[in-house]
Formats: sequence, C-alpha cells, structure tokens
Amino acid sequence: MTLSYSTDIVVFGGGVAGLWLLNRLRSEGYGAILFESDSLGCGQTVASQGIIHGGLKYALKGSLKGSANVLANMPARWRNCLLGGPKGNSDINLSGVQIVSDHYYMWSDAGLRSKLKAFLGSKSLSGRVRAVPKSEYPSFFGNTPADGKLYQLPDFVIDSSSLIEVLAGQQPEGIYHADPSGINFLRNGSGSITGVLINIANKLISIATQRIIFCAGEGNQALIEKAKLRNPHSQVRPLNMVYVKKRKLPPIFMHYIGGDLSLTPRLTITSHQDKLGINTWYLGGELAESGVGKDAAEQIEAAKKLTFSVFPWINFNDATWGCFPINRAEANINNNYRPDDVSLIEENNVLVAWPTKLTLTPLLADKTIETLNAAGVPVLNQGHPADLDKFFTRPGIAKAPWS
Ligand SMILES: Cc1cc2nc3c(=O)[nH]c(=O)nc-3n(C[C@H](O)[C@H](O)[C@H](O)COP(=O)(O)OP(=O)(O)OC[C@H]3O[C@@H](n4cnc5c(N)ncnc54)[C@H](O)[C@@H]3O)c2cc1C
Repeated sequence: MTLSYSTDIVVFGGGVAGLWLLNRLRSEGYGAILFESDSLGCGQTVASQGIIHGGLKYALKGSLKGSANVLANMPARWRNCLLGGPKGNSDINLSGVQIVSDHYYMWSDAGLRSKLKAFLGSKSLSGRVRAVPKSEYPSFFGNTPADGKLYQLPDFVIDSSSLIEVLAGQQPEGIYHADPSGINFLRNGSGSITGVLINIANKLISIATQRIIFCAGEGNQALIEKAKLRNPHSQVRPLNMVYVKKRKLPPIFMHYIGGDLSLTPRLTITSHQDKLGINTWYLGGELAESGVGKDAAEQIEAAKKLTFSVFPWINFNDATWGCFPINRAEANINNNYRPDDVSLIEENNVLVAWPTKLTLTPLLADKTIETLNAAGVPVLNQGHPADLDKFFTRPGIAKAPWS
C-alpha cells in the first residue's frame, strides 16, 4: 500500500544551502520539507573555514569584477542577519551564530610585490581595505617585529557548525533523514517530475510536490542522474586541508600572500577549538590545492615546512598535525573553473542549486524565490504533512572534520 501526502516544495540536502532555503521558503508561506541523507552540514559546510568573504581574495587575480563584485556586499548582509535584524522576508535571524573573528587579515611578507601593494592601496578599494599600522598588529604576531604589510579586510569568520544549529533549530519540524537508495521520482505523462516516492521500512510513501530542489552539494550529481536531468552539470574541485592543534596556539585569521607570481594566498588560516577545547589552526589556500594527491605524511611535511617558515616565532613543539581530502562541489558552467556566482538550473520541475561559496547562500535563496515567483508557483499547503514524523527521524548535526 502506498501512503500519499503533498507539500509545495521538497528540498534534498541539509547543508547551509538546503537549510537556508527551507527557512526562506517557509517564511514565504510555502509548505516545505527537507530530506538529508547523513547528518546536517556534513558535506562541505561544517568543513568550511567559515570566512564570510568580501571578495578581495578574488580581486587579487585581476579586476574588481566577477566574484569580487558579487561578494562585495555579502559581509554587510550577513552582519545584518547576525545582529538578528531580518529586513522583510528576505533574510534570516542568525543571532545565535558564533562569530569566531570579527576581522580577517591579509599579510604579505617583506618580499611584498609592488603590484599587490598598489592594488590594496588603490582608490577603488578605499574604505574596504585598511593598512594596519604595526602598533595595532593583532596579538598573534606576539612581540615579533614581523616584516611585510598587514591589511584588514571587510571579511569576518563564523563557526559554521553553529550556523547549521541555528538554521536547523529555527525549523523544528519537517527535516527528515532518508537513505538515497530508497528514493525515486514520480513523473506525469509528459515526463515532468511531480513528486517523490520513498521506500522506508517496507512502506511506500508518495509525496506530491510542485517543485523539488537539489541542494545536496557533491550528492547533486547522483540526484541529477536519478532524476534523468540533462541540463545541470556538476564538478568537484579537490582540496587536501590541514589542521594543527596545540593548547597554546594563538588564534589567527589571515591569508598569507607569498612572494610568488600567482597572488593566490599560500595559506588561508582560520582558528577554532576542537571538542576538547584545544586551539586548532585550520589551513587552506594554495597549501590545500597543491596537496591534492599527496599522502598524509607528505602533506603534513609540506604544511610544517611552510608554517615554520612563515611563523618562526611560534612554538609548534608537541603540536598534533592532521589532514584530510575534501571536495568543493559546484556547477560546471565554466570548464571546471570556479563559477563567479551561485548556480540555479531548472529542468522538469526540479531546481538544482549550488551556492558556490557559503558566503553566497543568501543570494542563492533570493534567486530560488524569484524563480518560483516568476513561474507562478502558488502556496497550496501550509506547514508540513505531520504524519511523516511517524516514518522518518530527524538527522543529527555533523561535527567539523578537524574536531
Ligand atoms: C574545505 C572547504 C573550505 C571552505 N571554506 C569556505 C569559506 O571559508 N567561505 C565560504 O564562503 N565558502 C567556503 N567553502 C565553500 C562552502 O563550504 C560551500 O560552498 C557550501 O558549504 C556548500 O553548501 P551546500 O549546502 O551546497 O553543500 P554541503 O555543505 O556539501 O551540503 C550538502 C548536504 O547534502 C547532503 N546530501 C548529499 N546527497 C544527498 C541526497 N541524495 N539526499 C539528501 N541529502 C543529501 C549531504 O549529506 C550534506 O549534508 C569551503 C569549502 C570547502 C570544501
């Protein structure tokens, strides 16, 4: 026997994109439910460095167009959410989310190249970047007479696990765990998808819906294949992220720009505490990109060599080092390069969504709501089908991989 229910929208994936969207859909009045295959945030979101970018990292590569332009207003928008001040329906109250650093820095060593110096000091960036005088250097420089130049960016850093907790906590109902192998899609005579059919504990649950939204990060590819969609194409860009833990490591939040020609940060560092309260540096940037394919011993050796040379005044004795591979998952719209913006691709009543950056998630939700409005998708259902609570459990919240 098949048990039949209906809702306006079904979302797949409980990372930042899916949970943010669930909040926005419900504040627009839509009946919506979300299915997560593992734990909430467990893909990229809790592994992210939590930097709310203002785009200057990308501006280093050229002009203030593309990503740099799209990201420029995001720190202010997020700060408004973090202060609990949603304006109208278009934002979310994030007042419980932990800000781990109110500032993010960019540091270039003594070999600072004139191009970078001219760019960061340029008129087009005035008001967005501040050259920090030595007397105001943050405490992680200790008493060292660190050479080079330090800039304070508009970027700041949040704890992405607490973001997931807040987004999920605001929706106590209708977030369900579901095994992807038990999920199929229902179609009408013209091939458009009209619902979801889920096989759980020897029961068949049919959920009719107006739209389905895939927000499953790397899992979008398998969903695209299952739904037999032809237009959305996904890509992954791998990283080999490193962490180092030691009780007395000073917290540090900084892109370190080396003296090479690429102007890609050689190290992108954020600081966190693991579950035992031990200070943890989380290291990305060029170190993580060039570490792809290296085994753990090689990657940790490369990380040690770089960090020891960049921070000679910091004592790493007795520190614990680790690394892990993780993929960034995005739409493939630009020949495997990172898209400049969010991606939302519609086909057969399915919207496939990638935020590209955690920072851009509010724009992804705006775009989704605009797309639903433009298609005239009405609000037909209130809340969620409460009967579903009998069949599905609520997923837990993921832990950061370095924790
Ligand atoms: C190491 C790293 C560092 C990063 N740092 C930053 C940063 O500092 N700032 C920034 O702006 N961006 C950063 N990013 C990018 C950012 O993390 C991602 O753009 C963002 O988290 C993607 O969110 P998402 O919800 O789309 O995907 P994910 O977070 O990957 O979530 C997808 C969810 O879908 C679930 N799922 C998968 N398959 C299915 C299925 N079939 N059914 C149901 N659920 C499914 C997964 O279990 C997961 O919970 C970073 C990314 C990485 C990898």
